[in-house]
Amino acid sequence: MDFSIKSLDAKSTIGGIKTGCIAVAVFEDKKLSSAAQALDRKGEISAALKSGDVSGKAGSTLLLRGLNEGSAERVLLVGLGKQDAVSEKDFNAAAQAVVRAFTTLGSNEAVVALPFDAVANRDSAWAIRSVILSAREAAYRFDSLKSKKDPAANGVKKIAFAVPAAAASSAKEAITQAVAVANGIDLTKDLGNFPANVCTPTYLANTAKKMAKEFKLEVEVLDRKQLQALKMGSFLSVTNGSVEPPKFIVLKHNGGKAKDAPTVLVGKGITFDSGGISLKPGAAMDEMKYDMGGAASVLGTMRAIAELKLKLNVIVVIPTCENMPSGSATKPGDIVTSMSGQTIEILNTDAEGRLVLCDALTYVERFKPAAVVDVATLTGACITALGHHNSGLFTRNDDAHDALANELLAA
Ligand code: MN
Ligand code: ZN
Repeated sequence: MDFSIKSLDAKSTIGGIKTGCIAVAVFEDKKLSSAAQALDRKGEISAALKSGDVSGKAGSTLLLRGLNEGSAERVLLVGLGKQDAVSEKDFNAAAQAVVRAFTTLGSNEAVVALPFDAVANRDSAWAIRSVILSAREAAYRFDSLKSKKDPAANGVKKIAFAVPAAAASSAKEAITQAVAVANGIDLTKDLGNFPANVCTPTYLANTAKKMAKEFKLEVEVLDRKQLQALKMGSFLSVTNGSVEPPKFIVLKHNGGKAKDAPTVLVGKGITFDSGGISLKPGAAMDEMKYDMGGAASVLGTMRAIAELKLKLNVIVVIPTCENMPSGSATKPGDIVTSMSGQTIEILNTDAEGRLVLCDALTYVERFKPAAVVDVATLTGACITALGHHNSGLFTRNDDAHDALANELLAA
């Protein structure tokens, strides 16, 4: 996927753009965006709206061919809802509809000429990012482990954004940001999708090392002996039943001033959670390869941060291991001592998340962080309480004055 800017001024207009397809917005109540008006020389777009071929509802589409000579080969009309109140949801629906239509086009390149500045409470950069993230989402495939891969999909590979010349440089910056975020998301998805026999603690550590090399980050991977020396008895108790060696990954992006307190992102990295001796039921147990979703999320976040060279100090910390049953595994009732010196009675070995994370949280105190964000697939109780789409957010100061909680909620 390639993204670029098509800068518009008095000489280069919407009507003069030569491309395989141009996507323009129409609204409910049969209203046309200014880009749609510019292409409606023969009245065919108005006629399509009048006839009801396209409703203008957010996400509705209609593909027209051969509207104007010397112009785009195809015009994709996409509904954006109510003209004077385009919501984030409406715009996202339109963006997804556009990229979905692009995937089946017989054209390699297309132009998106939506009114990027029309979204309530959001700027053009947000709207451009939304299109790019939708396009990359639609293009994402995980087929590296397939013995017979599907043939490469056709459709649009190059998307240009038509923006007024004055907005070109901020639009370019939006592309850079969105591509970095999409690259981070793809890494997170890949790590999640790899099965536990590929994505082991060692694999996560190697991923961090590779990223450190590519983006000049600082990386340190602690092994069992070093974790024993640190007295991480809680974390290590989870690894007792597994033959996969545990890893403790520390990845640093030093983009800020040396004296700036770092933001620390901790990610749970259980690459397979069988439950241990408190074994989980067999049905859907394969999904427990996703118990490293926190680790994948913070690695993906770090990739985006590093690619954008953000002027921040950020440290990613990942305790990673398998939770398996065996003759050497931790047993219900066992008592272990954490790095902080507290003793813990383990009544259920499937509650291992808190056991690996508490030692990681004690470890990160040494960085005197400005903030610590801990990302984890901690417990199925979160789904029971909040459903499948929401994430639980817990802070120490659970009130309206907690700036960090509010920032995270807004993000
Ligand atoms: Mn568990
Ligand atoms: Zn778990």
